[in-house]
Amino acid sequence: MDYVPVIGLEIHTQLRTHSKLFCGCSTTFGAPPNQHTCPVCLGLPGALPVLNRRAVELAVKAALALGCTVHETSIFARKNYFYPDLPKGYQISQYDRPLATDGALEFESRGESKRVGIIRVHLEEDAGKSLHEGLPDSDRTTALDFNRSGVPLIEIVSHPDVRSAADAAEYFSRMRAILVATGVTDGNMEEGSLRCDANISVRPGDVQELGVKTEIKNINSFRNVQRALEFEIGRQIARLESGDRVTHETRLFDPGTGRTVSMRSKEEAHDYRYFPEPDLPPLMITTDWIDGLRRVLPELPDARRRRFVAQYAIPDYDAGVLTQSSALATFFEETAAASANPKAASNWIMGEVTRKMNELGLSIEDVPLTPGALAGLIRLVDSGTISGPTAKEVFEKMYTAGRAADEIVASEGLARIDDEGAVQTAVTKVLEANADAVKQYRAGKKQTYGFLVGQVIKSMGGKANPALVNSIMRRELDKGAA
Ligand SMILES: [Zn+2]
Repeated sequence: MDYVPVIGLEIHTQLRTHSKLFCGCSTTFGAPPNQHTCPVCLGLPGALPVLNRRAVELAVKAALALGCTVHETSIFARKNYFYPDLPKGYQISQYDRPLATDGALEFESRGESKRVGIIRVHLEEDAGKSLHEGLPDSDRTTALDFNRSGVPLIEIVSHPDVRSAADAAEYFSRMRAILVATGVTDGNMEEGSLRCDANISVRPGDVQELGVKTEIKNINSFRNVQRALEFEIGRQIARLESGDRVTHETRLFDPGTGRTVSMRSKEEAHDYRYFPEPDLPPLMITTDWIDGLRRVLPELPDARRRRFVAQYAIPDYDAGVLTQSSALATFFEETAAASANPKAASNWIMGEVTRKMNELGLSIEDVPLTPGALAGLIRLVDSGTISGPTAKEVFEKMYTAGRAADEIVASEGLARIDDEGAVQTAVTKVLEANADAVKQYRAGKKQTYGFLVGQVIKSMGGKANPALVNSIMRRELDKGAA
């Protein structure tokens, strides 16, 4: 039987603020445990929260970028549950009156256009962190670090519109690109700035009714989203096929084994006893403020991709790769402008530059090569000063030595040889040294021509102007034949 997966995603992202959502403590990653804490984020009795305006601004930007309606009034709510890393006994979130609702994310996945509806975007604070391993007494105790407690997050909840594990990974990756491009988050997945929960059920293709879903928590890479869902889809189908039922529960993905394991039975909203947060007034935002933020939204990755195709006449595939990060897209635009050859700029960036980045584990921001320097290299090729193979050699040297292309070409004598006399000398030498091949050519064996030209180019270190070599070679060979 064919089964259809039905997937909805909840993405939590850390907002790019200096301080926490309801207090002035720093959000800097990597501080010693419990350094960034105060009575508010430790949940001490009587401490009162004060909302961070910058966090609201970033949350509104995210909502606008996703086409949501931002509400002028939204309400903070207490989500009550006990956990050792949640000292207040509740998390301040938003519930029935979220910041924004009804958006969508449209993207291409494997050549097809997809649209995933966004139900809501709401603000909430993060909890602290329980450490169960890594300390000398970890076999006996759990350590608590409250540095993350109160860090501002938004949660973006999608409709269950995703139909495959690959599309889920693509959605997550596009979402990250939008949130990074708008400056909402730094998108650093290793530091936990972005994580994804996936709700997944399967149903037989001919049945409309939804199957029982499970939730996979806290997945922190695109690849693991795909792996976790592929495993879970297979596991649910196997259960249904063997006549078992799927249990409504929360599961964890183990990247080591590639499997999901049961964590706890799934809570329902009523388990949390949500009620309006009495320590915070309703969040009121004026339409003027929202409109102001809408006007300063940068160009979003998908729009930029379409513009690249139209403006630079590069293939859609190239545009897709180049707009994966805004830094890479900007690097391309600057190289294209300075070289006046967008296609060559795209080829170099997607080819040699990316190869180097992968080889050295660098991001485009850390590449020791400016768009201007790369454009200089492209201009040398376009003007015929150097050949394609020489350009690759120069590129390597630019990278390691940090010198400009024309400097390297001049100091190392790499420029193409257009000197007719020099080429003439080389041709004469090759013809003398290969008298047999010349004889064969003149007797009608034309294949030897390529061999002779190759010998000349080789003897000149690959720098001879090929057109010049050809014309002199033909002239010399014809001379002898006449
Ligand atoms: Zn604090």
